[in-house]
Amino acid sequence: MRIGIDIDDTITESFVYVLDKIAKDYNKDYNELLSKNLNWDDIYHGYDDLPPLMDYVFSNYHKWIPEFEIKEDAIDTMQKLIDDGHEIILVTARSHALPGQNVKYLKDNGVPYTVLHEAAGNKVAVAIEEKLDLLIDDSINNCTLVKAQGIPVLLYDNPYNRKCTTLDRVNSWKEVYEVVNNMTK
Ligand SMILES: [Mg+2]
Repeated sequence: MRIGIDIDDTITESFVYVLDKIAKDYNKDYNELLSKNLNWDDIYHGYDDLPPLMDYVFSNYHKWIPEFEIKEDAIDTMQKLIDDGHEIILVTARSHALPGQNVKYLKDNGVPYTVLHEAAGNKVAVAIEEKLDLLIDDSINNCTLVKAQGIPVLLYDNPYNRKCTTLDRVNSWKEVYEVVNNMTK
């Protein structure tokens, strides 16, 4: 299978890292921010007493990327999928990374993949171009749009996407491996 995989908050723990930075830079309590179940749009456009932070996030993102942690079992699972004959097409919307930074990050962290699509704001276009058989992404919007093209999707669980009940959800990378195996039986 040709498996498309998002990077931020599907492979990495980006959102909680950014939330921690916001807590420190804007003098907020991290756990309180976490308890609000904010999503990226809330951060970008403001929420409660939090100002719109799109410029803050975009202008700092390149400094934070090297420090993002990888989700548990992500690398082992991706390697097993490749060993099983699948192709991994990474698709990230990141447009605010430095040139070469994503490739370096993936290399430094040993993330295995076949192809990388960067600044892919339109994941539907990539899904069609790459003839994806599956997309794994934490974004409800991305998954919904790609699913509408008849391409199977898996929504990678994050607190801010739990309100969505219409998409197949995976809660861990171990579960991703099971689901892909069931799909290819
Ligand atoms: Mg993401």
